[in-house]
Amino acid sequence: MKNEVQQFGNLELSKKVVTALKDMGFEEPSPIQSQTIPLVLEGLDVLGQAQTGTGKTAAFGIPTVEKIDESNRNVQALVIAPTRELAIQVAEELNKIGKYKRTKTLPIYGGQMIDRQIRALKNGVKIVVGTPGRLIDHINRKTIKLDDIKTLVLDEADEMLDMGFVEDITKIMSHIPKETRQTLLFSATLPAPIEKLAQKYMKKPKKILISKEHLTVPLIDQIYYETRDKFDGLCRVLDVEGTGKFIIFCRTKKGVDDLIASLDARGYMAGGLHGDMNQAQRQRVMKKFRDNKLDILIATDVAARGIDIDDISHVVNYDIPQDHESYVHRIGRTGRAGRSGIAITFIEPREYRQLRLIEKLIKHRMIRGQLPTSADVLE
Ligand code: ADP
Ligand code: MG
Repeated sequence: MKNEVQQFGNLELSKKVVTALKDMGFEEPSPIQSQTIPLVLEGLDVLGQAQTGTGKTAAFGIPTVEKIDESNRNVQALVIAPTRELAIQVAEELNKIGKYKRTKTLPIYGGQMIDRQIRALKNGVKIVVGTPGRLIDHINRKTIKLDDIKTLVLDEADEMLDMGFVEDITKIMSHIPKETRQTLLFSATLPAPIEKLAQKYMKKPKKILISKEHLTVPLIDQIYYETRDKFDGLCRVLDVEGTGKFIIFCRTKKGVDDLIASLDARGYMAGGLHGDMNQAQRQRVMKKFRDNKLDILIATDVAARGIDIDDISHVVNYDIPQDHESYVHRIGRTGRAGRSGIAITFIEPREYRQLRLIEKLIKHRMIRGQLPTSADVLE
């Protein structure tokens, strides 16, 4: 990604927090940290996926501590963690990050005397890190006040799911004000049930995915549409999404030409980019696209290599790519320089297998979209 922030000092963090990080020996943010911290500071819901050991705790911990209002005596952030060890460990890290701020973090977990936790909660705690069972215990006893919580974090969400905590988590969430709450979810993997949880309980979450291969796919919503009529589907998407800069991928040169002709017949202006064009033709199209005189560019994979345009809003896989590498290259054309982007993949019913294969390779589940109806289009 361009403009990747390499220093904690470049992120909008207070001196207190930056100094604490220095004390901890954190010299520069890890990829998941540099990508999520600005979003969390902005107040957005964030879904962060990165392997174990990539610094997910500080990715949510730094902005969470930053946002704490020292003058407010109530609990303002809640982190739910799967195990007692993790709760302790996360609380420790948050206390280190908040070393120069009055942001006391308390771990609460089963197996520890509840009276002791109740006393500590009464004495004023700003951040609680708890395991699901014990949190529910406190909620039932009314010994924890959740009305002032502005940040809710689900840490190691995949583990919590595996341990059967979904119901508990849902119950805890129902006690936290929804309107004012920012929800963050961190996980090493994003299986379907987590995506579902996110869709249900988060507000337009920004997804940050750091894959094993360090293929960073920042800020991109990945959606697929299943349809028997891809052309009609594409027209609907173009109509509903309205303004934006689209790059649409086809498998073959002929596919590019045919799609341009079909779009032209429907009144859309699109330019093409493929290997049969000479350099001058290519440059002419690219200039129009860059200068916003053309909103739709249709290309083959080979022709699109190396084009560098930062403000593409939508990448459309009109033909699903054959392999995950092309997929990653294609969608990497959007969501650049910190902007958000949308990647849309059209599949016919028989192409599910290919879709799943790509998902498996990129370790990421795409969201199934509902094609806009003609009523949406008319609005
Ligand atoms: P995860 O949640 O992804 O498993 P952790 O948050 O536990 O990862 O971080 C793993 C280790 O890396 C911890 O020991 C943590 O202190 C350290 N760490 C995290 N971020 C940084 C950083 N920016 N610089 C140096 N060490 C870091
Ligand atoms: Mg972790």
